Amino acid sequence: MTRRTASPEETEALGEALAAACRGGEVIRLSGDLGAGKTCLSRGIARGLGADPAQVASPTFTLLNIYPGRLPMYHVDLYRIESPAELARLDLFEEVEGPGVTVVEWPDLGGEHTPADALCVSLSHGPGEAERGFAFSLSGNGPEYLLSAIGG
Ligand code: ADP
Ligand code: MG
Repeated sequence: MTRRTASPEETEALGEALAAACRGGEVIRLSGDLGAGKTCLSRGIARGLGADPAQVASPTFTLLNIYPGRLPMYHVDLYRIESPAELARLDLFEEVEGPGVTVVEWPDLGGEHTPADALCVSLSHGPGEAERGFAFSLSGNGPEYLLSAIGG
């Protein structure tokens, strides 16, 4: 299932629609190049969960940020990890096993040490400067109702 947006605002709105359907415990994996809009989509999800979207920074210098809201959002950005082994040592995903929604940027850098049951979003640039493409899929026992929430 795919979607396109033509502005950062539209991308945030897509994130808000996902957030509205979250029940807690979901994992959303965001893949795509620098500048593709992963943090922008994360900001929309945060807003939709009732968190302060201004807290969602790009670029981030921390591996894990937790934003309180209707459900807590665990925002993980693996861009700066050295290796999947480093992630295993940090035990990051042990910390986020709670009632919240886990959003992971650069999940592939964490290899097998990232949650497998997820909504996977692959973001891409273009064709226009402010256009972005989103391909949605489920991995493992991922949350099907999130696909339904955005019309899939
Ligand atoms: P990433 O986290 O994938 O590196 P960011 O969300 O930090 O990307 O940055 C995306 C950049 O692209 C921002 O500067 C944003 O303003 C810009 N942009 C332009 N069009 C869009 C769009 N349709 N959706 C999301 N971001 C967009
Ligand atoms: Mg980012």
